[in-house]
Amino acid sequence: MDLIFDDAYFMRKALDEANYAYEKGEIPVGVVIVIKQQIIARGHNLTEMLNDVTAHAEMQAITAAANFLGGKYLKDCTMYVTLEPCQMCAGALYWSQLSNLVFAASDHERGYRKFGGQLHPKTKVKNGIMEEEASKLLKRFFIERRNLN
Ligand SMILES: [Zn+2]
Repeated sequence: MDLIFDDAYFMRKALDEANYAYEKGEIPVGVVIVIKQQIIARGHNLTEMLNDVTAHAEMQAITAAANFLGGKYLKDCTMYVTLEPCQMCAGALYWSQLSNLVFAASDHERGYRKFGGQLHPKTKVKNGIMEEEASKLLKRFFIERRNLN
């Protein structure tokens, strides 16, 4: 069987990361960063574990990718993230000069677009890839959490 390295393939890897977050009781958001069809960074939300509101999946992956590349800019990189980035992460992505952003589910409440957040003018954006799977996981998390309280 040949593996096809398309958007769905890499988004599935980001969803694996979101599942790790879910298992840890974190809001299930996951990210991978890809360059030339190779995953160079992974991340998932760790705000609870680290007690840090900035510990979003995207922030972890941006740092990891820059370390891997030995440079701070993410040119020629594609970020796959299971949920639309927030304003903070959009700001960080602006500074990173990321080439391509692909996100699964839209975040109508806290996504960067609602607040007029800006990515880098050179960043190309795609969304809706595996949206259903990503949304389902988030919904399951919030329903379960509500039932605990
Ligand atoms: Zn964020």
